[in-house]
Amino acid sequence: MSSDCLFCGLYAEGEHVRKADGFAAVKDINPRAETHLLVIPERHVETFRDVGEFPDDEAKRMLLFVAETARQLGLEDYRVVVNVGPGGGQTIFHLHWHILGGQMQGLPG
Ligand code: 5GP
Ligand code: ZN
Repeated sequence: MSSDCLFCGLYAEGEHVRKADGFAAVKDINPRAETHLLVIPERHVETFRDVGEFPDDEAKRMLLFVAETARQLGLEDYRVVVNVGPGGGQTIFHLHWHILGGQMQGLPG
């Protein structure tokens, strides 16, 4: 946990749609789709570039958590987006996955 990281804080105390097993799903504060969630891992890794910092089983569980969250929301067709680095639209430097479903207003970031 990094004390000055917004998403470490959100993982610890946010309003979670779902939380299990080291992962939390929250509603994006500025939704760009009818359904716009963020999946935030408890582990603080700055960017997807560093996804190798996750133990193999945890990386797999993270993907399963993303898929299961979408399923539980009743989404069948949707987008999963990860913005990587400022040039890729990343604004919060704690790895997170956007789940976007329904009517969309472009990509987040
Ligand atoms: P990024 O641009 O880094 O891929 O995504 C960061 C996302 O976090 C943005 O879509 C932004 O709307 C969202 N966000 C920023 N601050 C907060 C917050 O305090 N709470 C929640 N739930 N979402 C946030
Ligand atoms: Zn963090």
